[in-house]
Amino acid sequence: MEKAHCPWLHLDVMDNHFVPNLTFGPPVVKALRPISRNLFFDTHLMVESPLSMAEEFAAAGAQLLTIHQEVFRTDGELSQAIKAIKSLRLRAGVSLKPKTPVSAIESVLAAVDLVLVMTVEPGFGGQALIPSCLGKVRNLKKLRESRGLRFRIEVDGGINQKTAELAVAAGADILVAGSAVFKDSRVADNVRVLRDSLGNGVDFANGLLHRR
Ligand code: ZN
Repeated sequence: MEKAHCPWLHLDVMDNHFVPNLTFGPPVVKALRPISRNLFFDTHLMVESPLSMAEEFAAAGAQLLTIHQEVFRTDGELSQAIKAIKSLRLRAGVSLKPKTPVSAIESVLAAVDLVLVMTVEPGFGGQALIPSCLGKVRNLKKLRESRGLRFRIEVDGGINQKTAELAVAAGADILVAGSAVFKDSRVADNVRVLRDSLGNGVDFANGLLHRR
C-alpha cells in the first residue's frame, strides 16, 4: 500500500452477527501497526457491539473507528458511542447500510469526522455497486455545505475503474477499493489504473482515494 502511495488502509472488521461473515479483530491490527508507520488505519466495525472492542482497537493502533447506525436503538445511544470513541482520542465515523437513509444519522453529522456510505450490502467483497446509494452521497454533500460541517464522505463497496468516477462525481472524498486493488499481486498497478480513471483533483490512497 505504501509503495502504491496509498495514505489510508481500510480495515474491514466483521463479527458474523452484524454481517454473515467473520474477519479479524484487534490482534491483526496490532500486528499490522509495526510494519506500517505511515498508513492511516481506517477501521470499519461491521459488528453488533463496537464499543466493547473500541479500547482494544485504539491500543492496537487504529486511528479512526467507524460504527454502524443500525446497531443502535436510539439517536442518543449512537451519539454516546461517538463520544466514547472520541474520548479514546480517535477519529469517529458513522456508516450506513444500503437501505438506511441519511435521515437516520442527521443528528450526529456535526459530531463525526467521517460518514461511510456502503454501496453494497456489507459482508463480502466482489459485489457490484448499487447506483441508487450514490444519491445519499449527493444528499450528504449538500447537507455538509448547508450546515457548514466538515465530515468527510467515504464510499465503500463495488469501487472499480468505472464506478470510482461516479462516486467522486456524486461527492465522495474517499473511496475504498478491495477487489479492484487486491484482485492479483500487481497492487501498485491496480492503484494506478484507478487513479488514472479519476483525472486531476483527486488523490489516490491505498485501497482508498481521497480528494486533495
Ligand atoms: Zn469497509
